[in-house]
Amino acid sequence: MLSTRICVACRLKKAQKDLIRLTCDYQNGDVRLNTGDKHLSGRSCYICRSKACVDQALKGTRLKGALEGRKVKGKPAPRSVAFPLSEQLIQLVYRECTDTAKTCQNTQSKE
Ligand SMILES: [Zn+2]
Repeated sequence: MLSTRICVACRLKKAQKDLIRLTCDYQNGDVRLNTGDKHLSGRSCYICRSKACVDQALKGTRLKGALEGRKVKGKPAPRSVAFPLSEQLIQLVYRECTDTAKTCQNTQSKE
């Protein structure tokens, strides 16, 4: 069975190959685009290959929250992610987008 992941922007479940993967390196906290050719260990989050979803993910703190993980009361945050992401990384992420339509097709109303 194909593994599915949830997009941090639209919360839809998709096949992992249809999503852009960002990984927060557990050693130094750097966020990297994870294309699978390098071994990256750390917490990952996924975004649709859609400009709309990338925009949405970058806008708020959702992406940061997803990469930092749930905070436990009374404990220091397990990791701190530099946010906003670097311009260079953002460009790389946009390059991964195959759907450049303004709206994510899955978020369009079905009426
Ligand atoms: Zn999405």
